[in-house]
Amino acid sequence: MFKNLINLFFPKSCPGCATILLTQENLLCTACRTALPFTDQHLSTTNEALGKFYGKVRIQHASCLLYYAKNGIVSNLLHQLKYNNQPKIAFVLGQLYAALLAEAQACPDADFVVVVPMHRKKIRLRGYNQVDGFATALTQQFHIPVHPTVLIKVEQTTSQTTKSFQERITSKPTVFQLQSTPELTGKHFLLLDDILTTGSTLETCARLLLQIPDSKVSILCLAYTK
Ligand SMILES: [Zn+2]
Repeated sequence: MFKNLINLFFPKSCPGCATILLTQENLLCTACRTALPFTDQHLSTTNEALGKFYGKVRIQHASCLLYYAKNGIVSNLLHQLKYNNQPKIAFVLGQLYAALLAEAQACPDADFVVVVPMHRKKIRLRGYNQVDGFATALTQQFHIPVHPTVLIKVEQTTSQTTKSFQERITSKPTVFQLQSTPELTGKHFLLLDDILTTGSTLETCARLLLQIPDSKVSILCLAYTK
């Protein structure tokens, strides 16, 4: 009753299509839920997501939940997730993915979940890392702990003397850094990101994790760009 009243005065809208949600709808409207373009990549060991890393870096398993298309539901969802303070979107999509992976027994047998890191300044600005909700959902389903510090993002410390003064004050490039410990030897890392486009960010992160002796890396993303 109270919830209905709240909804009446502060109606929530669906981040996929902007229609007003019914009380019983959780985050996404029924129409968007049924129209989600699932990739089913987790059902194949030789899928197009894994193909993006062939010949570049050794990945055990790679799959994405949804196909991304410009101006589609998924692009709306990711936009709202990143720029409109809606971290719950990653959690709800993560729950959907966790359920599919559990049903197909396709979740990589990893020791740690690792979220592609954001620089702490950017986290402060946005208030959250947009992939954290995805990690939480997977951890709840599969009980794989998140390793929050094995990869970090820092401002580049190399000399910038070749750049002009203007470039130096406007651009501060950030780079990923590995912070390994001896206990991480032989571990399998499940690397998460919101979207797989060229794969270059994930490739960089995977390369760093594979510097750990006998380590393995698998990748899961919420969306895939063809
Ligand atoms: Zn909708």
